[in-house]
Amino acid sequence: MIKVTIHEDACKSCGLCVRACPKDVLAISKRLNTKGYYAVEVAHPEACIACASCAKTCPDVAIEIEK
Ligand code: SF4
Ligand code: SF4
Repeated sequence: MIKVTIHEDACKSCGLCVRACPKDVLAISKRLNTKGYYAVEVAHPEACIACASCAKTCPDVAIEIEK
C-alpha cells in the first residue's frame, strides 16, 4: 500500500508538487495551515504510483511517500 503524507504546516502552497505529479494526485486545498498558506492535500490517493516526484520537488520537504 502506498501512503502519501503531507506535513501541512511545512507547505508554502508553491504548487510545484501539484505540477510535478504525473497522476494529478495532489491539489491545493482550501485549508490554511499555521503559517497562513493553503496547504496541499492528497486529493486522489488511489492514483499514486509512488514515483516520489512530488517529494523530490518540494523545496520544503513537506511530502513523504511510503510503500
Ligand atoms: S509519488 Fe508520484 S504519483 Fe504519487 S503523489 Fe507524488 S508525484 Fe504523484
Ligand atoms: S512543493 Fe511542497 S511547499 Fe510547494 S505546494 Fe507542494 S508540499 Fe507545499
